[in-house]
Amino acid sequence: MTLTVLNPATEEPIAELEQAGVEEADEAVTRAREALPGWRAVAPADRARLLRRLAALVEEHAEELALIESQNVGKPISGARAEVGMVAQVFHFYAGAVDKHYGETIPVAGGVAATFREPLGVVGLIVPWNFPLNISSWKLGPALACGNTVVLKPAELTPLSALRLAELVLEAGIPGGVVTVLVGKGSVVGQRLIEHPDVAKIGFTGSTEVGRLVMQGAAGTIKRVTLELGGKSANVIFEDADLERAAAAAPYGVFDNAGQDCCARSRVLIQESVYDRFLDMFVEATRRVKVGDPAREDTEMGPLISAQHRETVASFVDGEPLFRGDAPDAPGFWFPCTLVEATNEDRIAREEVFGPVAAVIPFRDEADAIRIANDTPYGLSGSIWTRDGGRALRVARAIETGVLSVNSNSSVRVQTPFGGFKQSGFGRELGMQALDGYSEVKSIFISTEG
Ligand code: NDP
Repeated sequence: MTLTVLNPATEEPIAELEQAGVEEADEAVTRAREALPGWRAVAPADRARLLRRLAALVEEHAEELALIESQNVGKPISGARAEVGMVAQVFHFYAGAVDKHYGETIPVAGGVAATFREPLGVVGLIVPWNFPLNISSWKLGPALACGNTVVLKPAELTPLSALRLAELVLEAGIPGGVVTVLVGKGSVVGQRLIEHPDVAKIGFTGSTEVGRLVMQGAAGTIKRVTLELGGKSANVIFEDADLERAAAAAPYGVFDNAGQDCCARSRVLIQESVYDRFLDMFVEATRRVKVGDPAREDTEMGPLISAQHRETVASFVDGEPLFRGDAPDAPGFWFPCTLVEATNEDRIAREEVFGPVAAVIPFRDEADAIRIANDTPYGLSGSIWTRDGGRALRVARAIETGVLSVNSNSSVRVQTPFGGFKQSGFGRELGMQALDGYSEVKSIFISTEG
């Protein structure tokens, strides 16, 4: 079966690809299993050198990769460049981490115990369409650093950057079979990886719904899983915040990547005492978001990923919203920046929209803000805006999410752990913590008696 890949900004086809099925998935797993002994035996310094070469190749091909990502996902080119920059950083970071992730010696009666970090084996990586190359690298970096071999399944909508990366992996000198990219349906290729007895772990990013299927499928072979799922994060604006700064930043906390971001701060919680003032500034800042051709240097928001997804996003906006911005009236899956006044009980505040629609919700005081922020099945991210340092820490500790930022929208960095609480998933990506998810701890006792 062939797959037609579209540019969501024009609706035009940009590639025709052959789709893999169960047979190809099995072949890829066999190749990965065969490549495993050689890859895990590569000396740590050499594995690091290969990952560093891959990072350098990503840098060398940065513009090409950014263009692929921009055309396939509809991302503004400036954002796509920043993402490719992060991909290179991720490989640099894990190149540096290869020989810094090691075991311990533990004094015990009769001898000593030593722990070792062993690779898991063949790992299956299933990634979504919103940050295809970035999220692939977050999983590939630690998986390869730990000595695993990998079968990576990109989303059907956005396979192009992962296919190019697979070529760069080989060019870097990483042996064949260590990384295989398989283009195919989640329900076929993804499902096969989840069930395959020779796959030791699934690293998954995507919807909470499919995350549940991954957990269920993995149970059959007691596979390890890391799940990075949806979110419904809060952007909490206290009356003592720098309101101008918070309002200028707020649109980008939810409309970046056209809202197709698991970290999107899609519930904007505003203290009642400054509600009207903040809202005026927030609307003005939203009006200024530049929506249009992703190829333009100054574009800040592109289209949604598909016609079907646009329908889903539109279903969240009943009646006249508080504010609706402009979007091109042309081919492309365009949707304008939209602000909706809501209560935390409304559908718009409970479900992940994954589009440029923000729910604006008032709160009374600190306790009320924490209650509303936590009143969701998700727990991924969020922001707190205040000038009171004590409050910032108090509220940050009280909000049940895996990552948070104070007076900032940004909580994803190569060096720091990223992942969710509650139904946003479990396991951590990025930082040194990601290495724990791609290795087993082995303890060996050595007797010193006799
Ligand atoms: P999915 O969870 O369906 O897709 C994510 C990945 O999982 C894709 O590679 C997909 O493959 C694969 N997949 C789908 N079904 C299965 C399956 N049964 N077994 C194994 N793998 C599978 O997300 P959608 O693309 O459908 O997006 C739906 C919603 O999910 C979004 O609107 C958003 O709310 C959320 N989402 C969250 C993301 C996040 O970053 N946390 C990322 C993407 C989506 P394929 O697409 O090729 O079928």
